[in-house]
Amino acid sequence: MKLRLRNFMRELGFKAVDEVIYGIHDGYLVSISDSDGILSLFVDIVIDDAYGEQGQTIRGIINPNSRIYSIARAEITSTGVHIVFASTLSAFSKLRDFFYFFLQQLKTTGIRGASICTNCGNPISSLKIVSIHGRLHTCDPDCAAKLAASNTSGRKKTRPLFIPGFIGAVIGAAVGVVPLLVLSRIDFFILWCGVFVGIFAKGGYELFGGRKCIAKSITLPLLSIIAIIPTLFYIYCRNLNDIWLQRNYIIPFEDVVTEIKSLILTPGPIRQSLILDSAITFGFAIFGLLLFIRFNKKSVRQDIFVLH
Ligand SMILES: [Zn+2]
Repeated sequence: MKLRLRNFMRELGFKAVDEVIYGIHDGYLVSISDSDGILSLFVDIVIDDAYGEQGQTIRGIINPNSRIYSIARAEITSTGVHIVFASTLSAFSKLRDFFYFFLQQLKTTGIRGASICTNCGNPISSLKIVSIHGRLHTCDPDCAAKLAASNTSGRKKTRPLFIPGFIGAVIGAAVGVVPLLVLSRIDFFILWCGVFVGIFAKGGYELFGGRKCIAKSITLPLLSIIAIIPTLFYIYCRNLNDIWLQRNYIIPFEDVVTEIKSLILTPGPIRQSLILDSAITFGFAIFGLLLFIRFNKKSVRQDIFVLH
């Protein structure tokens, strides 16, 4: 979801479903969509006839102001008003302004919104919200159930799980150390490559549909450090091997590993250096984890379903 939409959602205290934010404001259920290049607002109302007096009243509010608010088109039906904004740089601020203006105006007309069932037109005692093709309507529980049942596709819920996310994170962390390994060939400060470990571990977790939970915030840093330490160890071994090769010592790689291992197990500069390097790389990995990048799979839009 775009940041501007998320911010507006917070401002209004709205909720979100499938990239659409929705909530009740001034007695009207409003859903706002800002994806696929289309910025639109839908207000759930119930009127007898879209071409009758009430429809004309609504047109009377929108039409004279369509230029001011950069409205590309407006569609009025018996179950709601759908407004699409022209894609200009200021489109979102126009939508914001129009949102407050329109609801205020609509209130004065006496046309009712959230308190009336979209399906049967009766006052609602217990409110349900139904999403119909990305437009949200208020219903009473019976009508909501009927509407949802009449739509055979329904809403398939895919529950995110921890284990697939964990597998994704392991793969991600393994891929994330590659830049570190490759760039360590050049004699330059490369510990910042730890940032890729964080980004890829998080990316793997989210792409595999990992759940947002405490285990995630423990696992990702843990996997990062688990990936970083052996990688740095390997880089140390390779560097020592290179130094020895330059001096024409040909030593089996396992002996190099044994040498580095003993240097790390005993207190000394190599051990300190590895600890410091690991800490710095880990710091960058944490930075990578905290970067505001989303790897969520695009959710499939559902047709008709009841929200709560
Ligand atoms: Zn009803």
